[in-house]
Amino acid sequence: RLGRLRAGGFPPAETRGGIRVELAGNIGAPGEARAVLENGGEAVGLFRSEFLYLGRETPPDEETQYLAYREALERMEGRRVIVRTVDIGSDKRAPCLDTGREENPALGWRAIRICLDRRELFRTQLRALLRASVHGRLAVMFPMIASLQELRCARKLLGEARAELEAEGTGTASVEVGVMIETPAAAVLSDLLAREADFFSIGTNDLTQYTLAADRMNERIAGYYRPADPAVLRLMKLTAENARKNGVWTGVCGESAADPALIPLYLAMGITELSMSPAALPEARERVRSLDMEEARAALARALGEVE
Ligand code: PEP
Ligand code: MG
Repeated sequence: RLGRLRAGGFPPAETRGGIRVELAGNIGAPGEARAVLENGGEAVGLFRSEFLYLGRETPPDEETQYLAYREALERMEGRRVIVRTVDIGSDKRAPCLDTGREENPALGWRAIRICLDRRELFRTQLRALLRASVHGRLAVMFPMIASLQELRCARKLLGEARAELEAEGTGTASVEVGVMIETPAAAVLSDLLAREADFFSIGTNDLTQYTLAADRMNERIAGYYRPADPAVLRLMKLTAENARKNGVWTGVCGESAADPALIPLYLAMGITELSMSPAALPEARERVRSLDMEEARAALARALGEVE
């Protein structure tokens, strides 16, 4: 059944003028890859690896993680799977990794910060990922990057894990390495980050929260939380431009990637991949296919506040 759907069930995600976009799915467990394919997704643009850490007393071991990444890669049959390294902390809590009480958890010990402090935990995940890399087309991305040093350090640890596996006689394949752009710092530094990354994936859920200083979980200030705000869009455009200058592609994997009002703006910025919950893929595809790039560029200029 999947074969039939993939073979002819979906028209390409291409604008009227022939600009092609990759439509990908966000998943939280390997089994969800099926829904990505059923909805015509061409890749997994965000595999939130946190699920492995939730509801457990101790962090998952290397073998458990390896099997999960391998399953996602095998289900996607050679299509790209971007695994985001563990993003615990802030709104994402896991009993096996107690981040303690913090006054401002969104600005606290989370994601890559935890991984760079708890090297053993990170090493286990990186080893599992590299072992799985031979089973498909794996890409790895790091969340909450806010400096070039963090990217360099994470990449160095990835290289060490690879060298270790090779010394043990375990094969690994090359993987694309990406940066999640979800802090304003990462967007502002995107020219530097682009020289040392293969791709960017903009996490608009967090980028909106941090840019507008508006808690993504707080209903009371929901009106301040605006992915379409010119401040957020300007950072995204800057990111996409710096990426392109360096031969790096840019995707969006926050909820806004599925917003029919924002898709034209993202394409007009030069974003070439949109990753969303699988159920949102059919509508997004239709939005892309009906899109007129000229109109999208004009809409972007207005949304950025460049013209009235
Ligand atoms: C984001 O921040 O936009 C994102 C995709 O990551 P998460 O929602 O898991 O924080
Ligand atoms: Mg995020």
